[in-house]
Amino acid sequence: MDCIWKILFFSLLTFDRQGEVLTGHFWHITDLHWDPTYSLANGNSQSVCTSSGNRPTPHAGKFGDYLCDSPWNLINSSLSAMRDILPDPDFIIWTGDDTPHVPNEDLGEEAVLNIIGNLTHTLKELFPYTKVYSALGNHDYHPKNQLPPEQNLIYEQTQKMWERWLDPPSRDTYKRGGYYTEKLLNQTGFRVLVLNTNLYYNQNKVTENLSDPADQFRWADRVLTEAAKANEKVYIIGHVPPGFFEKKRHKPWFQPEFNKHYVDLIQKHHDIITGQFFGHHHTDSFRMFYSTSGSPISVMFLTPGVTPWKTTLPGVVDGANNPGIRVFEYDAKTLLVKDMVTYYLNLTHANIAGPRWEKEYRLTEAFRVPDGSPASMHRVLERIANDNCYLQKYYGFNSVNYDLSVCDADCRIDHVCSMREVDFQAYERCVEKEGASSTAPAPLTVALAAVLGTWASYKHF
Ligand SMILES: [Zn+2]
Ligand SMILES: [Zn+2]
Repeated sequence: MDCIWKILFFSLLTFDRQGEVLTGHFWHITDLHWDPTYSLANGNSQSVCTSSGNRPTPHAGKFGDYLCDSPWNLINSSLSAMRDILPDPDFIIWTGDDTPHVPNEDLGEEAVLNIIGNLTHTLKELFPYTKVYSALGNHDYHPKNQLPPEQNLIYEQTQKMWERWLDPPSRDTYKRGGYYTEKLLNQTGFRVLVLNTNLYYNQNKVTENLSDPADQFRWADRVLTEAAKANEKVYIIGHVPPGFFEKKRHKPWFQPEFNKHYVDLIQKHHDIITGQFFGHHHTDSFRMFYSTSGSPISVMFLTPGVTPWKTTLPGVVDGANNPGIRVFEYDAKTLLVKDMVTYYLNLTHANIAGPRWEKEYRLTEAFRVPDGSPASMHRVLERIANDNCYLQKYYGFNSVNYDLSVCDADCRIDHVCSMREVDFQAYERCVEKEGASSTAPAPLTVALAAVLGTWASYKHF
């Protein structure tokens, strides 16, 4: 009752949307993970896809299964939904992971390239005039996760596939290290950095003993320094994010020294970085970056995946999601993130009644903030951390309305600390501190909550 009352009350507050003409729009899609083996032809009792491993899939349907990566019908449905919802975005951010979660022996270099090629082709057909900023994921290589710090066939071939989307100077660094920079939409004052953070992934054996794989950190520092001199605003795009996975305590993706290097880079250049857009988690979350004095300085938005695939990561309970896609709204003069709208497909419903892509939520409405700036996202995080209504709402969004169970005290710590602290040591301190405070709730807080809850139940709108 308490939560419903709050939602009804605050939905009466609308934000002034003047100046709409200055608002730009772009899509962010990620983690499509197409599984070409998905087939219902052999009946549903056994597995219908290689990506389920040996997990049976009795509920598999035309648009997929929570234990499988995406069938073509789901890929096609999600890309078509993008065209139906917003057919003419300013640009598209596509942050990788195109191949299924299967053993290396089931793929190979050629299979990986064919999968990336098919997705690229379809995206070009649906958005023939749209610029796409495309980052490689840890699954866009054979063997998976082992993206090398030097030129190789996959970088060469994807560079050719994406040639239309890459300005000529971008092609050199891309071929050499899988990263590039260019002016955003060729406009003066705006820049995009597409990073290959797979080089920092702790599963990547090829780069584990290097201090700066493919020279990417030195390059990024130089590009950002030059960008500041030229008064540019910058978006950073990548696949594997720094920091921790919010669904598994103490689970980072980067090697420790690479994580530190990344945080230092953002702290140094935050003035000109107006947004960071990453994937890999398949879940919907965000990461805050703070100055050494504790002010919010930057936000990394983690967009949910298209694949519904339930992770096999040990320790994660029921880690599947509904397919999600996201539109960002930005101030075309400053690149400030003004809002984001997430759309999703209820997979269970789609398999029964056909695909219906719906709006899941709009950031400013759901969390009562004016925009997606670091200050606003800090407020969002504090609401999630301190108000159970917002925590539950966020938790539903996190799995794109798949897991609507209660986020308990431990769950709250995992999510709040991973959003608040990207730095490894600061995260551990957060877990310790939040754990200590949540195990001993102040009696006064409990009593106050009970009184407020009773009062709220009298308010009906
Ligand atoms: Zn993925
Ligand atoms: Zn990934």
